[in-house]
Amino acid sequence: MDSDAIASDLSEILLTEDQIRERIAELCREIESDYEGRELLLVGVLKGAVMVMADLARELRKADVQMDWMAVSSYGTGTQSSGVVRILKDLDTDLTDKDVLIVEDIVDSGLTLSWLRENLESRGPASVEICALLRKPDAAKVEIDARYVGFEIPNSFVVGYGLDYAERYRNLRSVAVLSPHVYA
Ligand code: 5GP
Repeated sequence: MDSDAIASDLSEILLTEDQIRERIAELCREIESDYEGRELLLVGVLKGAVMVMADLARELRKADVQMDWMAVSSYGTGTQSSGVVRILKDLDTDLTDKDVLIVEDIVDSGLTLSWLRENLESRGPASVEICALLRKPDAAKVEIDARYVGFEIPNSFVVGYGLDYAERYRNLRSVAVLSPHVYA
């Protein structure tokens, strides 16, 4: 879906489809060189990371890549992070000796990712790193060492490119600030 279709729900387009595609390509070149000769397991966090995972995985010029998915709940349908994390769907893959790259849509408070990283590290992998398309620096409650970050964005509630509000707007091609009138 293009942003024109829901222009009145959005207060600002932060990132266009082209900007996202270009930045993902840059991140992929870094990932390819960092993991050269190593098998890589991409772990996507449902549902928000579906778009970034799909585009990142296809852009990677690397054959030894596996993909798996986890679903965790931390948000409900509101716009504030709760810090409470629950596994709704676990990985199918055994992580022993694997190089794991967690693929996330956004680091907001960082609570979800710090919990997830610790959880995956306890399963005996060779390494665990984080790739997040977006990061809100102002909101960091926990220091998160994300090795690959697409864009630093301001501290507003954003939707699109996988990110939802009450399960809507995930299919928006760009990343946009949701107009407060939608959730007020
Ligand atoms: P954190 O635990 O880092 O605060 O946030 C984790 C999750 O909250 C993200 O994976 C994402 O699903 C959701 N989230 C955080 N900020 C936003 C936002 O601006 N928009 C949307 N749609 N979800 C967000």
